[in-house]
Amino acid sequence: MKKKVLIILFILILVKKDDLHNNFYRNIKNIVNPNIINVLVNKENKLSKNFIPSELFKLPIDVSYENKFLKKEAAINFIKLSRYAKKKNFYIVAVSTYRDYKYQKKLYEKYVLNKGQTYADLCSARPGHSEHQTGLAVDVMGSNYDYNKFNQTKEFKWMKKNAYKYGFILRYPKNKEYITGFKYEPWHYRYVGKILAKYLYKNNLTLEEFYK
Ligand SMILES: [Zn+2]
Repeated sequence: MKKKVLIILFILILVKKDDLHNNFYRNIKNIVNPNIINVLVNKENKLSKNFIPSELFKLPIDVSYENKFLKKEAAINFIKLSRYAKKKNFYIVAVSTYRDYKYQKKLYEKYVLNKGQTYADLCSARPGHSEHQTGLAVDVMGSNYDYNKFNQTKEFKWMKKNAYKYGFILRYPKNKEYITGFKYEPWHYRYVGKILAKYLYKNNLTLEEFYK
């Protein structure tokens, strides 16, 4: 009897996983206004291969790894965030920022090769579908020097409460995978501007829910 229940549960989990996978990358639209601050880039909204954001700005090395670029407005606010955090004894640096189409393609293909497509699609955006191509997304690292384990840091707790004040949102929250199409990413923040960031934070909304 127990075995039967377990088998049914297992099948249900498989179906659910498959659901998540199948509900995305359908009805893909090309993004018309890729340079606006609140642009929606996801599995349904695609950037062109040739799109390079305007006003890319190089982050100084006290707030980031070398040669990392964000769109100017996002960069200025990230610098403010990181430097203010530092004053309060929190170490928050950018480890991945703007990525071009070609680079994203390589990243995604590597994921598929190593983990298979279903899993790759949960963790990595297909080329043209990554927010990193807009220059508005930033992956951060904290005082444990491991962005993958950013959720275990005091910096993560600080970011959860304060990122919106600088115009950033936690883009792929826990338990919203079925909406965003991506697994929980405590390290990935997206600049949307202060007004929208505050609204999304206070109402616990993803960018997808806002646009719906
Ligand atoms: Zn990211």
